[in-house]
Amino acid sequence: MDDELRRLRAEKHRAYQQLQASERPRVEVCTQCQQPSFKTEVCPKSGLYHNIKNKKLIGGHVIEGNIVNSAQLMAAIDSTRVRWAASRTSLVRADAESLNIFQTFVQQMDGKVNRYGILYGLYKAEEKIIEAHAVYEPEQIGNEYAFLEQKDPFLDTVDAVAAGLGLRRVGVVCTHPPRDNDVMLLNSRELLLCAREQSCFGDECVLLTIAKNDKEGGVLECQAWQASPQCVHLYRLGVLHERAPRRRPATGAATAAASPYNVDEEEEAEGIAQRSAHLQNPEEARLVYSEVELEVAEEKTDAAGHRHFVSKLPSHTVDTRWFTSYVAVEQFQSSIVRGLFLRRNRPAMAPPTMANLRNYMKDPKRQKDSFAEKLADFHVLVFLAETLSMSDDMPTLIEIARTRKMTPAAQNYEMLLDAYMQS
Ligand SMILES: [Zn+2]
Repeated sequence: MDDELRRLRAEKHRAYQQLQASERPRVEVCTQCQQPSFKTEVCPKSGLYHNIKNKKLIGGHVIEGNIVNSAQLMAAIDSTRVRWAASRTSLVRADAESLNIFQTFVQQMDGKVNRYGILYGLYKAEEKIIEAHAVYEPEQIGNEYAFLEQKDPFLDTVDAVAAGLGLRRVGVVCTHPPRDNDVMLLNSRELLLCAREQSCFGDECVLLTIAKNDKEGGVLECQAWQASPQCVHLYRLGVLHERAPRRRPATGAATAAASPYNVDEEEEAEGIAQRSAHLQNPEEARLVYSEVELEVAEEKTDAAGHRHFVSKLPSHTVDTRWFTSYVAVEQFQSSIVRGLFLRRNRPAMAPPTMANLRNYMKDPKRQKDSFAEKLADFHVLVFLAETLSMSDDMPTLIEIARTRKMTPAAQNYEMLLDAYMQS
């Protein structure tokens, strides 16, 4: 190393040592992902831009520096015009068994509980197809109008099990009460959940909704949606919320919500009834709140049949349909994993035990399947990840499930699990 460089470094080091602890430059750690916030532009947990408080926002546009030129000003004005965008994903294939078990629970509860789940799968970039192979239901509460997320400390482990199988997060699925699509497509909670998934895991991610269609005699309908790139951008800036803040005045992105729900600690402690009251009335539920005023250009057809655009006055609320596009859905059977074993986190149900696993493994229906084939069930693996060691046992077990081969390691684990299940 150059002597001069070495001398400068030593000098810098000395200067640093002389600083008081409070004077030393600190690395800001994000409270959501616990990573230094300079590491990634977008927080992998919240989907919001890191360091948003240090950015200057004009309209829905981020400005670097203090001087705004006319091109930036035009871009700023343009970014507040809401533009509908077609979906970028052309088709969603979802594992029929997984969707069925997900929605059956809600039907059993007679619709008194709504639920959401995380979709694990693959993205076929060339064909623009999302394949959802498994559904995990994180800790949550639900009532007859909505679901509400809760912190799930086990989610990272589930992500790791999925990654071992070669699967990644590709979106979310939720149920909702019957609704009139002419009045509302998605409520604000559903839209923001979708925007967050797209922000964190890629624009190709989707939201699946499952609900009864009252117009069609109560048949169950599964539909897929995507939030527009503009919606995802505004979400990342932290300016979109389920509803207008109740106490805190809206002061632009400087207050960028620490939580995507834009609630303070007091509200966070409230039950689902209060937290979801605004979702009961479709006229209110279909509006997403923006701290930045947005303008919607609406296409109207006049009496003479001519179509023209009518710009509405800027407003803090926008109908979710301006941010939403439809994606085709098809059901299929995953060739990677099954999804038959019991789910954790179901309200009023005990989590699965070794006795449940024994019943599953010894079920006469699966008599012909090898241990490796039986192991290739997403929820069996999730259960074992909770019981066994994620670093020692799980990589081998996941590999056995992935290849479905009865290797010597598979035979060992079959004996080991047999012993566990007896005890
Ligand atoms: Zn973060």
